[in-house]
Formats: sequence, structure tokens, C-alpha cells
Amino acid sequence: MANLIDGKAVAKQIKEELISEVSQLREEGIFPKLAVVLVGDDPASVVYARSKEKAASGVGIDYELFALPADTPEEDVLALIERLNKDTSVHGIMVELPLPKHISKEKVMGAVSPVKDVDGVHPINRGYILSGEEGLFPATPQSCVEIMLRTGVQLQGKHAVIVGRGETVGKPLVFLLLKHNPTITVCHSRTPDLGYFTRQADILIAAVGKAKMIKADMVKPGAIVVDAGINEVEGGGICGDVDFDNVKEVAGAITPVPGGVGSLTTQLIFKNVLKGLKMQLGKN
Ligand code: NDP
Repeated sequence: MANLIDGKAVAKQIKEELISEVSQLREEGIFPKLAVVLVGDDPASVVYARSKEKAASGVGIDYELFALPADTPEEDVLALIERLNKDTSVHGIMVELPLPKHISKEKVMGAVSPVKDVDGVHPINRGYILSGEEGLFPATPQSCVEIMLRTGVQLQGKHAVIVGRGETVGKPLVFLLLKHNPTITVCHSRTPDLGYFTRQADILIAAVGKAKMIKADMVKPGAIVVDAGINEVEGGGICGDVDFDNVKEVAGAITPVPGGVGSLTTQLIFKNVLKGLKMQLGKN
């Protein structure tokens, strides 16, 4: 039976670090602030935006929500972002997705100042992740790495298999993980015989978006299994990409969903706010 990797406990640890760092900054007269731009009323985005507000206040980060109607012209959204870029009291900007169809996601992502881009989606930050330079990187792949580092998982010399090469999780994860010296295999929807590869993993990371697709017979006994997937369950709730109940009988350690990778993401967005703030102040 696998050890449970407790994402909530790791998130609490990060939260405590944030509280202490933010209180130090506030004593110096610096008030970290996150601005969230929400266009339209996608119910999930509204929930995320509100939950971030509560979490921000929990660590002492100021928060302002800019909620715009769904029919806001693209140029008005870009103008708001430009204003927030110039506003020195705002240190992080987050644009909730999805955006309405008439607004180009690429244009909006590219408009956010790279040092305020707490989602790590600006082309410059995507470049830094490849080059190994410091930048702001997406929270979910960072969560996958942090949850392992902070629970003592050794990465160096291990064979890590990532299932999924999406822009949000799988692809950036390759480069964040590589810094810690595992050997990495990346699988995707065109990988023939997925189990052949996943069974070779010392560390198996699922970032697909297909409920319970990683079955027990696809996992090497004793492997570390990290599940980044979030899938809605009929009748409410969420589950991961890993068939948790059966895989836990085979794996050495496993992250649950909920209570795993996803538990860290908001705190890691706040870490990005502070990292970006230091860049803005020229402290990096
Ligand atoms: P994408 O949809 O961008 O990518 C999914 C990837 O899975 C693609 O690379 C795709 O392959 C691959 N894939 C699809 N079907 C299969 C299959 N049958 N076998 C192997 N690979 C397959 O997803 P994201 O990167 O945006 O997100 C991945 C998961 O992470 C989702 O479940 C999402 O909900 C979750 N997520 C979790 C967050 C969190 O806070 N925990 C935040 C953001 C996302 P191909 O490239 O060939 O199409």
C-alpha cells in the first residue's frame, strides 16, 4: 500500500513561508498585490477568482478583482492590462481563462508584463523555462515538482515518465523537472502502448485530463505517482487521471485528487507574485 503524499500539508508549509515573507515586506512598506482580470461570468472562473481572494487575504497579499462583462471589446481588455502593467502598486496580474471567443488569448497573454505574469504564460517566460534562466513559471507544473521535493522524493538519476505534453502542465514540467536531473520520457496521445513506457517509470506523472486512465497494471511496483489531472465526477466532486484506489495498492507513494498537486497551486501563484515583485524592485 502506497504512502499518501499530502498536498494539503505541503501547501500549509508554503503558506507559512509566504505569511512570513509578506509580513516582512509589509513592515518595509511594500504591500504585495495581485490583480485578477475576469471577463464574462464563466461559473468555474468566478469560483476560482473568489477562492483566490480568500487565499490571498490568508497570506496578507492585497487582491483586486477586475470583473468585465462578457461583451467587453478586446482593446478594452488590453487597455486594462496596460494600465495594470504601469501601476506600481500591482505586482502580479492574472487573467482568468477561458476568455470569450472574440478575445485572443495569445494577445492577452502576450500583453501582460513578463515580471507580473504570475501564470507564467508570456512568451518570454516560456523562453526562460527552456533556457533555464529565472522567470515566472506556471503553478501546476511547479506544484508537481514542489510536492516531490518537499516530501523527500529523490529525482536525480531516476526515470520520470510524464504522460501529457499540454502547454499548461506537461510541457513546462519537462523543463522544471529536468533541473533536478532525472531522465525524462514524455508520452502523449500518439504514444503506442502507453503502459510499456509508464511501467518503466520510477516517477510517473499524469497530466492528461482523462479520469482514472492510469491503471494499476501500468505502474511499476514501488513507483512514485503524481497526479496533476482534474476531472469532474458525475454527481459532483473531482478525480485525477490515475485510478487511485487500485494504483495505491501498487505504487510506493501517490498524490490523491483532491488533496494533492492542486492543493499547492494557489500558494505557488502567490510565490510568483513575490518573485515578480522582487524582479520589479530589481532585487533578483
Ligand atoms: P492539455 O489538454 O493541454 O493536454 C493533455 C495532454 O494529454 C496532451 O498532451 C495529450 O496528447 C495527452 N493525452 C490525451 N489523451 C491521451 C491518452 N489517451 N494517452 C496519453 N496521452 C494523452 O491539458 P493540460 O496540460 O491543460 O492539463 C492536463 C491536466 O492537468 C488536466 O486534467 C487539467 O485539468 C489538469 N490541470 C490541473 C491543474 C491543477 O491545479 N492541478 C491546473 C491546470 C490543469 P496530445 O498532445 O497528443 O494531444
